[in-house]
Amino acid sequence: MNELDTEIMAGQLVKKGLTPVHDEESADLLIFNTCSIRDLAERKVMGKLGLLGRAAKKHSIIGVTGCMAMAKKDTLFRKFPHLDFVLGTNNITDLEAIVDEILYTNRQIHKTDDRFEENLDYLIAKRDNQVKAHVSIIRGCDKYCTYCVVPYTRGEEVSRSPDSIVDECKRLADTGYKEVTLLGQNVNSYGKDRPDWGCLFHDLLARIDRETDIKRVRFMTSHPIDITPELMQAVRDLPSLCEFVHFPLQAGSSRILKKMHRIYTREQYFEKVAMLRQIVPNVSLGTDIIVGFPTETDEEFEETYAAMQELRFSIAFIYAYSARKGTPAKRWKDDIPEEVKQERLQRLLDLQAQIGKEERQKFLDTTVEVLIERFNKDGKMLKGRTRCWKKVILEGDASLIGTLQPVQVHSFHHETLLGKIPQSNDLLKIV
Ligand code: SF4
Repeated sequence: MNELDTEIMAGQLVKKGLTPVHDEESADLLIFNTCSIRDLAERKVMGKLGLLGRAAKKHSIIGVTGCMAMAKKDTLFRKFPHLDFVLGTNNITDLEAIVDEILYTNRQIHKTDDRFEENLDYLIAKRDNQVKAHVSIIRGCDKYCTYCVVPYTRGEEVSRSPDSIVDECKRLADTGYKEVTLLGQNVNSYGKDRPDWGCLFHDLLARIDRETDIKRVRFMTSHPIDITPELMQAVRDLPSLCEFVHFPLQAGSSRILKKMHRIYTREQYFEKVAMLRQIVPNVSLGTDIIVGFPTETDEEFEETYAAMQELRFSIAFIYAYSARKGTPAKRWKDDIPEEVKQERLQRLLDLQAQIGKEERQKFLDTTVEVLIERFNKDGKMLKGRTRCWKKVILEGDASLIGTLQPVQVHSFHHETLLGKIPQSNDLLKIV
């Protein structure tokens, strides 16, 4: 969501006549679009703002936007007096006016509304990627997991109208985009705040599939409680919808899940995964895990370990718990020693690395459909992704960028599959 917000802000500024530059020394305007989800992300920005404050000459307008702006609001001015503006996640449309106001008045400006009004000009987004695009469908979250700042930094759920979303997807397809990722803190809640629209998440997916020429649709991210049988059937039935579902478990112990306010038990989570795998046998699952949540015992950590062993996610984002200011969990003692957290983290990372390796082995000598996105960093090989979000590297020329190709997998390196476009009679089976 932050990447998309950055693209929208950049689009607004370019429309206003500003030109992007690639080094901060020559910039007249510096904006830090921030994330508060983890402590490290905040500390990086604070460090950079401090450095700019100590620079001999203040050469540009400096603003902080995003979740850190929401979490810290105007207290940022006390710590960084050289800061010109603090603009919250719900005020992106105000960026142009704020920059003007600072130019004319030279005053510090702070604007952080609690609620998002769906009034953004999404079509203005300045996208660098010409093959795949992020499309916002819902902002905010009403779930209030006890460790998470998002409900406080992004506000409550506000869905975007289905007509506006379908229109953006149509325009993206017309300008050559092949893939969209529908974004929201919890996309599965889509439409629940607007029963008058009669369009829940699976209805929206069906409309995009039916009414646009987008070849691939993904979504990010989901709360397990809102992953419905209708959504599972949509993953099975809609040709454009990729067979990859991000299904954040967070912890394998029902007691810890309750303390996290995840509103499902271990058993309910397992049942839902089983149902999804029954309906969509070739689905790949991603997950998020937090280790070292306050009071997590060794036995409860072992439940998470066993859950990952059994469920075999294709990708897992695993973190050691860090308390976030303003959340209910911040009031609890962060009682798991750092070395224990790190040991648990490492065990899960090792387990996931082993599972990932075994899963990638299954792709050898199969043929997968790959959307070719761009050249790899070395500029020689092409890079793309399968429908189930596996990264693939292959040989080829620029004419293939933006096309869907069958790719025969011959090996893998770390998490990347390596392959080649086969002669038509080489095709084995499409995964
Ligand atoms: S559902 Fe996700 S975004 Fe919402 S509070 Fe929980 S972790 Fe945060």
